[in-house]
Amino acid sequence: MPTPHNTTLPSYACPQILAGQKALVTGASSGIGKAVAIGLGRAGADVVVNYVSNEETAREIVSQIESFGVKALAFKADVSKEAEVQAMFKAMLDAFGTIDILVANAGLQRDAPIDAMTLEQWNTVMAVNLTGQFLCAREAVKEFKRRGVREDISVAAGKIICMSSVHQIIPWAGHANYAASKGAINMLMQSMAQELAPLRIRVNSIAPGAIRTPINRPAWETPEAYAKLMDLVPYNRIGEPEDIAQAAVFLASDMADYITGTTLFVDGGMTCYPGFDEGG
Ligand code: NAD
Repeated sequence: MPTPHNTTLPSYACPQILAGQKALVTGASSGIGKAVAIGLGRAGADVVVNYVSNEETAREIVSQIESFGVKALAFKADVSKEAEVQAMFKAMLDAFGTIDILVANAGLQRDAPIDAMTLEQWNTVMAVNLTGQFLCAREAVKEFKRRGVREDISVAAGKIICMSSVHQIIPWAGHANYAASKGAINMLMQSMAQELAPLRIRVNSIAPGAIRTPINRPAWETPEAYAKLMDLVPYNRIGEPEDIAQAAVFLASDMADYITGTTLFVDGGMTCYPGFDEGG
């Protein structure tokens, strides 16, 4: 059994590859969204930190982002509510003038065996994980289309990153609502990418594997749970939120200009199906 990696990631001297860009990250007061918001700010973007709970943490994240010499703004909105999403975009356009990067990250789980799953559990997951991404993408695209390319800022007219999951392709017993919402995100992302590519609007997904955040705490917080999780991760370490932030900075930047309509799996090889590593 290989020794687990040291999971302290190096802190890269990040070039300002997003200088002058305006970004919105949903669900940014914890976990992956928090790391992505900080990563985009470190790369030079002004950032709206969307949160639905935990205002104090959102404000701390704003301070951290401002320490990079860029602007940041915390905004409370439930991404599943049309009026709240529209109010958030209005506040962003009032404060920053426009939007260049949307990271539609907010998501949740309401787990249950299929025969015990309530309609409320189903609807809550779909409303946040799928409808929330649609509502935010729609408002971003309105602004991308109105404004077009800002030649001095980016070669694209806008970038959308949808936070998906390895469960857009790996079935997940006991989590059918969550897996269905992420499978749907893939088609939403690809259909938007196809529709918007002629306008130089790029749309991609990131599909995290197991990342150390509050959403999956039981899967990593005890040594026994962590060891079991590693059966699913050929790279033999859990992912850190910063692993996802680095992928998001890349996809949002002009380094990824020819990438649209695709999913970047950031999963330590989880989708290499390690259950088959001895011939199946
Ligand atoms: P998390 O629970 O720390 O973050 C989810 C965030 O979404 C929270 O800040 C929460 O407040 C916010 N949120 C929930 N409902 C909202 C709403 N209605 N409006 C606005 N914000 C809302 O967990 P995380 O792991 O950071 O999850 C972030 C995203 O990454 C989710 O879409 C999740 O499905 C995805 N993901 C996570 C993992 C993982 O292993 N952690 C793996 C695959 C995919």
